[in-house]
Amino acid sequence: MALHQIGIIGLGKIAQDQHLPVIKANPDFQLLAVSSQRGLTHEDARYTFLDYRDLLKLPDIEAVSICTPPQVRHQIARDALVAGKSVLLEKPPAATLSELEDLKELAAKVGKVVFTTWHAQYNKAVDEAKKALAGWTIKRLLVTWKEDVRHWHPGQQWIWEAGGFGVFDPGINALSIVTRIMPEPVFIKSSSLEFPANRDAPIAANLAFSMSHGQGDLQAVFDWRQTGPQTWDIEVETEAGLTLKLTHGGSCLEIGGREVVKEDPAEYQAIYRRFDELLNARQSEVDTAPFRLVADAFMIGKRVQVDAFED
Ligand code: NAP
Repeated sequence: MALHQIGIIGLGKIAQDQHLPVIKANPDFQLLAVSSQRGLTHEDARYTFLDYRDLLKLPDIEAVSICTPPQVRHQIARDALVAGKSVLLEKPPAATLSELEDLKELAAKVGKVVFTTWHAQYNKAVDEAKKALAGWTIKRLLVTWKEDVRHWHPGQQWIWEAGGFGVFDPGINALSIVTRIMPEPVFIKSSSLEFPANRDAPIAANLAFSMSHGQGDLQAVFDWRQTGPQTWDIEVETEAGLTLKLTHGGSCLEIGGREVVKEDPAEYQAIYRRFDELLNARQSEVDTAPFRLVADAFMIGKRVQVDAFED
């Protein structure tokens, strides 16, 4: 199949840590251009722009990866689709569900591909967990996603602003695994959101879920104030007594206390392999399930004010 000429919009942490090296190593893609408001460039890119709208004018660009904060993604993705470019959306794919629906409809209308990337789903351990849970009734779910925001998000003020999602920025990774592995849909039953007195986004959240079948104990705890060891675990127990634990953000899996998968994450390599397939098939992939849970958690969430937080 043809080589995909691609551009990256927003050269922040995830673009530098993952998109740039992964595109370089994938023979199906060629980085043609980058756009960076701060004027950053990259040796692999033939063109560099300050304004992404100029990048979108390049006729040879087939697709763009939008690696900005979520608050501005919708407008950029819209402009890209209207300019005839397919789009890869970093997670969270937009600021609201309506924006995401709009992108899905627009992509269909202009005949281009839109791809919502939920990177935590791209793990063998997640695939194996999904297979192991298929057909079973879930009795217990405990998601523990606790990390140190000062370590993982230094200087990222957008994350604390409205629409930055706060602790749901990492928490949505856990939810993207939950929606992938659960054998039936999961709903938010209640939600408690802890907002620092000086911030517009939550630093911690406690969620209770429900499912159509069973009266399970289904919960998630997200916290950004964790220092020392970091925890990204999902424990599941079925009514039939099967126990399963995903650890290390979904890259390792134990079933019945026995290690089944232990891998170094290669999530973005898998994301770009999938993007290649979607571009070749001219097919969009828009998974709204993780994003709906976040929206629901905010919609019915009880707001609790906690101590001011400075990073
Ligand atoms: P970041 O380091 O703050 O980078 C975001 C970049 O987007 C900025 O550096 C800026 O780059 C550009 N940007 C900011 N405001 C913009 C605007 N108004 N218009 C256009 N571009 C703008 O954030 P990040 O950690 O890379 O996260 C970006 C997205 O990736 C988020 O949605 C996040 O959830 C997701 N993500 C992050 C990680 C991670 O480990 N950090 C992992 C997975 C997914 P320029 O100055 O170069 O334009």
